[in-house]
Amino acid sequence: MDLEAVKGDIERVIVTEEQLQTRIKELAAQVDKDYEGKDLLLVGVLKGAVMAVADFSRALQRHIDMDWMAVSSYGSGTKSSGVVRILKDLDRDITGRNVLIIEDIVDSGLTLSWLKANLESRGVGSVEILSILRKPDAAKVEVDVKYVGFDIPKDFVIGYGLDFDEKYRNLPFIGVLAKHMYE
Ligand code: IMP
Ligand code: MG
Repeated sequence: MDLEAVKGDIERVIVTEEQLQTRIKELAAQVDKDYEGKDLLLVGVLKGAVMAVADFSRALQRHIDMDWMAVSSYGSGTKSSGVVRILKDLDRDITGRNVLIIEDIVDSGLTLSWLKANLESRGVGSVEILSILRKPDAAKVEVDVKYVGFDIPKDFVIGYGLDFDEKYRNLPFIGVLAKHMYE
């Protein structure tokens, strides 16, 4: 879906498709280097990280394993609840693995700090985080995001996996949702 199809719903585009793809290639080059000679398991957080995992994994120049988790911390609104629930767990045991969690966005950081601790408790080799976006609030919570795509303002954003009420995930760019859509 392109901008034309959602024009009235979006206040402005904050990360273009081209900026996303360029940054993802840069992050992939960095990860290729950091994990050289090591095992690597990508854990995508459903559903928001679907686009990120698809593009990031294809930008890597190495073999990886891919697994998925689904957690919920948001209802249908625009505020984080702080309550994390596992909706779908990993398919396989991760003992000794080098895990790289792929997320769409770190907002309060509650979801990721919980998820990181949860995976660390399973006897992994290492757990790091890659997030396409990070909001300023994330700085308030103790969560170390090793790879960040873009720092963005506090606005509610959609696209490239991020939804509002399950819609807009299939936009190739990231935009700020117009206030009239939820106020
Ligand atoms: P946190 O626990 O506050 O860091 O929020 C994490 C989750 O909330 C993310 O994985 C997203 O699914 C969702 N989220 C946070 N901010 C936004 C946003 O601006 N747009 C859409 N979803 C968001
Ligand atoms: Mg998410």
